[in-house]
Amino acid sequence: MATSPAGGRRPKTRGLVLDLIRAARTISRIELAANSGLTPPTITEIVRELIAHGLVVEVGRGASTGGKRRTLLQLNPKARYAVGVLFERNICVIVVVDLAGQQVARTSFPGTALLPPDTALPLVASRVNALLETAGIDRDRVLGVGLVSYGPQDRQSGVLLTHQPTDEWFGYPIAPRLSDVLGLPVVLDNDAAAAAIGEYWLGTVEPHTTYGCIYMASGIGGSVVTAGRVYRGSSSNSVEIGHITVDINGGACTCGNFGCLEHYAGPPAVIEQAMRTAGLGQRLGLDPNDVDVMKHFGRIATAAGAGDPTATELIVRSARHLGTGAVTMMSLFDLDLIVLAGPSFAAAGSIYQSVIQEEVHRRVFARRAHPLRVIASTSGADAAAIGGAVLVLQSELAFLELDGVAFR
Ligand SMILES: [Zn+2]
Repeated sequence: MATSPAGGRRPKTRGLVLDLIRAARTISRIELAANSGLTPPTITEIVRELIAHGLVVEVGRGASTGGKRRTLLQLNPKARYAVGVLFERNICVIVVVDLAGQQVARTSFPGTALLPPDTALPLVASRVNALLETAGIDRDRVLGVGLVSYGPQDRQSGVLLTHQPTDEWFGYPIAPRLSDVLGLPVVLDNDAAAAAIGEYWLGTVEPHTTYGCIYMASGIGGSVVTAGRVYRGSSSNSVEIGHITVDINGGACTCGNFGCLEHYAGPPAVIEQAMRTAGLGQRLGLDPNDVDVMKHFGRIATAAGAGDPTATELIVRSARHLGTGAVTMMSLFDLDLIVLAGPSFAAAGSIYQSVIQEEVHRRVFARRAHPLRVIASTSGADAAAIGGAVLVLQSELAFLELDGVAFR
């Protein structure tokens, strides 16, 4: 197995250069050196490799700045692709993006996590293969798959460390198994982290912003991004905002903590409150035996969005609790922006946004030092899937083949 001398030493450096070219659209070598802090000879060598492998092309010359006009570089977007898979209890979204991070194909189907792993993963793999085939994308051009799911998880070994939704998934090597079935590299990541990166790529967030993301599907997750990179903590299980205590006398959570935010603000909690509210459960057709949390939560959120006072009261109560989470995140990380992402914000996003914004303006420690904003994601569930694919583009996978290294 041949490894180029440069390869083993500098995969992250090359990722940085590729990312700078992607963000700038067109850029000269001199600007790359200035923006990366790398020396011009290092930039020259890395760019030579990227051009040799067809990832980057020269596209003419920029304006003169007094001396020689500089050759501009840009990505060759169709040179490689990455796949993002959002693996949720109730929904699975698959997207394909090109090297520039633009979505070129998408599909979604009802969630697979309630199936046993050995049934669910071949199903996901067959959908990925079908999508690539329909889009006419050669598998040799696919760098890998970013599989995003809930936590806690061992990102390094690609293993889920949760008993949710069933015991079969605890300790299950989801990324290596999917990689075996698909024959492509698979990296595991957190849904909230991926959603935050997806928002960045979709242009919701300006570059260099330090922002947070609250991600709500059937559970509640969070993440923080600085200058386009996810804050990882020591094991990539950071900013778990759904599992901060909001009531020190609260009940036990499956996570081991007690009084967790998720039990007051999350969709299952809202459904439970609706069931206990006289007449509401019946009126909205809520079935206590149906496990489809998103469907039932969607009905309550839609009713609230349409002005039903009882449903609105429940959503506002959930939003006030989430506001406490948002205040905590903003005060801990000195954020000026929080994006509300994930499928559960889709139906009643405007209620959540206004209530959380109000809490933040009233309560965040640094509220007089800088503006504070809460915005709703425009892409719903897709931000996490797109972020999963973009995380592949940002990873070292892009360079394994340059170095002649097999992924397994
Ligand atoms: Zn918890």
